[in-house]
Amino acid sequence: MDYQVLLYYNYTPIEDPEEFAKEHLAFCKELGLKGRILVAKEGINGTVSGTVDATNAYMDHMHADRRFQDTYFKVDKAQGHAFKKMHVRPREELVALHLDDDVDPNELTGKYLEPSEFKEALQDEDTIVIDARNDYEYDLGHFRGAVRPDIRTFRELPQWIQDNKEKFMDKKVVTYCTGGIRCEKFSGWLLREGVKDVGQLHGGIATYGKDPNTRGELWDGKMYVFDERISVEINDVDKHVVGKDWFDGTPCERYVNCANPACNRQILASEENQAKHLGGCCYECAASEDNLYVKRHQISAEERDARLAQIKEEAAV
Ligand SMILES: [Zn+2]
Repeated sequence: MDYQVLLYYNYTPIEDPEEFAKEHLAFCKELGLKGRILVAKEGINGTVSGTVDATNAYMDHMHADRRFQDTYFKVDKAQGHAFKKMHVRPREELVALHLDDDVDPNELTGKYLEPSEFKEALQDEDTIVIDARNDYEYDLGHFRGAVRPDIRTFRELPQWIQDNKEKFMDKKVVTYCTGGIRCEKFSGWLLREGVKDVGQLHGGIATYGKDPNTRGELWDGKMYVFDERISVEINDVDKHVVGKDWFDGTPCERYVNCANPACNRQILASEENQAKHLGGCCYECAASEDNLYVKRHQISAEERDARLAQIKEEAAV
């Protein structure tokens, strides 16, 4: 365990994201870090991995910069890098919410709830807790009783709220996401939409899992992460598996991408079911000409046809 993974963000003005990205990439490479950092005029959002010395040097460097001096880093111990490469990319926005009229979290954002306050909110009948992540993240793990918006990706969330507004307007609403960055904007947007009482889990699920008081209690399953680890444990008190195999509904925490590159949907599936379905999330994807599973496993045309026929047969039953 002589590596660390850092997760952080900061909504702070960066004048020239393009130029900053170039310099920052060079600096990260010099330290031997690997990871993915997004830079925009509104701030920075990153996950990087490296040796304890390198990641500590990175945090010191960031804290010495006036723009980033108050950055809070979530630190995970690790056995090696969590990424293959180092990228620093300039972007229009840090999180893809695609709002016509953007929200500046420094001006408008939900009330910050610390982990133990959030835990109380979870147990309060009058509070609606909304998961502000993508559907495949929720399906692997989520807070007990949290609302799963009927959407596939985070950017569909504002529309979903507008369509279901009457459920939230007069309630206490609390939102959470992985590290907190998505909620900074989303909770501000909720306030602007007229929801009166809006809170957000400060530091996200990652912080909740490390908190000595909550120790991740009331979290079920695992937390999806956007690096090679794919998922991490959160609940240190009473862990339940909530992930279900896409095909047969049995408990499962193994993530795979649909083998049809045009779909690429992330589903939970056992190795066995993945093979049975040629890595596809549905018949059409399994039968796709571009099926990566078929290519990767060098499945013969004969075998492919046999498995496709079986998928069809099972679907008919
Ligand atoms: Zn698919």
